[in-house]
Amino acid sequence: MNKFEPIIRPMFCKKCFAEHHPVLGDVFAEHIKNVLRVLQLDYNPPMKHIGITPHLISDANEKLDLIELTTYCTINGCGVETKWNKEKENFTVHLQRPTIYTLPINDWKALQRYIDSDYSLLNS
Ligand SMILES: [Zn+2]
Repeated sequence: MNKFEPIIRPMFCKKCFAEHHPVLGDVFAEHIKNVLRVLQLDYNPPMKHIGITPHLISDANEKLDLIELTTYCTINGCGVETKWNKEKENFTVHLQRPTIYTLPINDWKALQRYIDSDYSLLNS
């Protein structure tokens, strides 16, 4: 397998669902033009998006006919910690708590292509 390029996709996070995120004021990371950027949510997302959060998929490994994904919920305080770097004047994103998902390879191919036009934390 070639070197894996990390991507972000909306996925279900049990912890965020239990704690009712995403919500107004949440700090989260998103991929914008291939750069991981830190943003603050400036609106309350609809109820149907509770528990659905941006996940950084940092690695994918084939295991027989399955794929094992290493993912991080990018809500600050959940799967990542974001810190302001004074010298560089930017945020750094520290990966904290991975969630491992195992998917059939065809589901993984579909997830890579999938753009959910109904889901975005970037615009209200
Ligand atoms: Zn989460």
